[in-house]
Amino acid sequence: MAAPIESIVHGSKATLQQLPSIDRLLRLPAARVLVERHGHTLVAEQCRGLLAQLRERAHADLDASELQDAALLEALQSRCRQALASSLKRVVNLSGTVIHTNLGRAPLADEAIAQIVATMTAPSNLEFDLRDGARGDRDSLVEPLLRELTGAEAATVVNNNAGAVLLTLAALARARQVIVSRGELVEIGGSFRMPDVMRAAGARLVEVGTTNGTHLADYRRAIGERTALVMKVHTSNYSIQGFTSSVSERELAPLTRASGVLLACDLGSGSLVDLSNYGLPREPLPREMIEAGCDVVTFSGDKLLGGPQAGLIVGRKEAIARIRANPLKRALRISKLPLAALEATLRLYLEPEKLSQRLPALRLLCRSQASIRAIAEQLVEPMRRALAPRYAAEVADMASQIGSGSLPVERLPSAGLRITLQQARRKGSGAALNELAAALRALPEPVIGRIGDDALQLDLRCLEDPAVLLAQLPALAQVLGR
Ligand SMILES: *Cc1c(COP(=O)(O)O)cnc(C)c1O
Repeated sequence: MAAPIESIVHGSKATLQQLPSIDRLLRLPAARVLVERHGHTLVAEQCRGLLAQLRERAHADLDASELQDAALLEALQSRCRQALASSLKRVVNLSGTVIHTNLGRAPLADEAIAQIVATMTAPSNLEFDLRDGARGDRDSLVEPLLRELTGAEAATVVNNNAGAVLLTLAALARARQVIVSRGELVEIGGSFRMPDVMRAAGARLVEVGTTNGTHLADYRRAIGERTALVMKVHTSNYSIQGFTSSVSERELAPLTRASGVLLACDLGSGSLVDLSNYGLPREPLPREMIEAGCDVVTFSGDKLLGGPQAGLIVGRKEAIARIRANPLKRALRISKLPLAALEATLRLYLEPEKLSQRLPALRLLCRSQASIRAIAEQLVEPMRRALAPRYAAEVADMASQIGSGSLPVERLPSAGLRITLQQARRKGSGAALNELAAALRALPEPVIGRIGDDALQLDLRCLEDPAVLLAQLPALAQVLGR
């Protein structure tokens, strides 16, 4: 028998004998309400978990008050809530990096979300030709759009750009040589290293030139009987400065064509519009690579393009046909969910005048420093109040990055909140700033900032609605006030 609850007093240590049974716990009226809401399976499982945890702690630090009905039920309720809460959740990206790979890259446009909802809740013509009622091809849903937007003869889509590169190499250069400049052997995110991808695709990498200088003659000398492909890789996440030279696609194309080998280009980000039209630093366009004479161009769907994760492959008909016929194409195929979002995103490009409003990634990149600062001014007072007395906040100019390897050196003038320890306590502020960063990450909609320069910096470029932050300040103040 469990001890009568009334006899338990605060501050006394609980013993194993005082732990209730699962049955007694489940019979409490509030537990019955939980069972009604969630079913017996989940609630019983959480009861077991809770009791196991309490049993464990009964040997050490379990206070008797924790075994009172109200406390037990609150713990049970919270366990049920946690079990059902999604691990993947929205966060507020104030890191200063707009297209942040660890934070899900490009946010999707409303049109893309609407298309997912419209087509994923019912069967669709994913691989079904509605005209003749026969089997269709999922590529055909986006190929005409991609041709129009890039000027390429043909196009296909896979799961992501890493897959697009792997597939291109496997289909066009298995057991043959691929020539790449030593200045372009990139590593992206630690696990995508060009030499490793070559090996995985069964292609033989032939490096030419040096880290900072590669010339047309280097390529010419390297092309031989066993060469299948010359590959250009956009050095997206680093920049070599100083005395450098590389050979452009336009210069290479006549050589590869005359030698009977193919020219491929991995663009990485691959913006479909000229960003300089929006006052942003310029990125090479797939269309330009096609015009320059590339046979195949690969790029990502969720970087500057602003869509879902996808790998886009555009180029000459024969090359794309070989890529489509490779068995890896099936293994790397894009799911219907991102495909729906990709089509809707690509259609936005048909109305370029509206793009900077409709495409969130571009909209965020285009925000003026003045409009970002206006949000900062709105937030600074409420933030000060939430952070007092330990921390101070001020409006400060900041510099955002595009992210995801695009234009690694360029910075966009931005603004935000600079949070420091109050003057008197600046010494050893590192731990205190980490603590604050952790408190922000623990909010219901976690806020991700960046520590640097003895401050926690909240770059507000990606915060379009200050209410998202304002609504969470009471919770923040409460955590910090402990
Ligand atoms: C980002 C990038 C990739 C990988 O693309 P994912 O879409 O992340 O798979 C490959 N090559 C370059 C040059 C890149 O910038």
